Amino acid sequence: MNIGPGMVVTMHYELTDDNNDELESTFDAEPFLYLHGHGNIIPGLEQQIEGATIGQKLHATVYPAQGYGDRDPQAVFEVSRDQFDADAELEIGMMVYQETDQGTQSFTVTAYDENHVTLDGNHPYAGHVLHFDIEVLDIRPATAEELEHGHVHHGDHHHH
Ligand code: ZN
Repeated sequence: MNIGPGMVVTMHYELTDDNNDELESTFDAEPFLYLHGHGNIIPGLEQQIEGATIGQKLHATVYPAQGYGDRDPQAVFEVSRDQFDADAELEIGMMVYQETDQGTQSFTVTAYDENHVTLDGNHPYAGHVLHFDIEVLDIRPATAEELEHGHVHHGDHHHH
């Protein structure tokens, strides 16, 4: 069986950046499952993993255009500190969430003082070349319900 549209893929992956720093790894944790062909993973990874078989190990290099995009300097901006609760504990690198026209957006706090907070709306991996080391553990056809929903259903991890 090969990875293609409508297949549910179970895999382990390790993600490193250009400095060879590990960003994420599932190898010591639960494997990652996704439904192929529904945009559930970044396009560059979805393209490069297509056709792989069970047990296959592969390396995928994903450039920003096919990953999380380039960093947008316009997405970094300053807001007034009083937009946060006075007793809110701010920390560099923490994520804050805000309702916008496009739904809930996440921002990283990159700086703050008593009057201002700098927020970065870029994805933390924007502008990074991403290196995936992948081991394909299982491939199965998606159920009709999964195809209809556009995502995997498994165990207790049924999110909508
Ligand atoms: Zn569902």
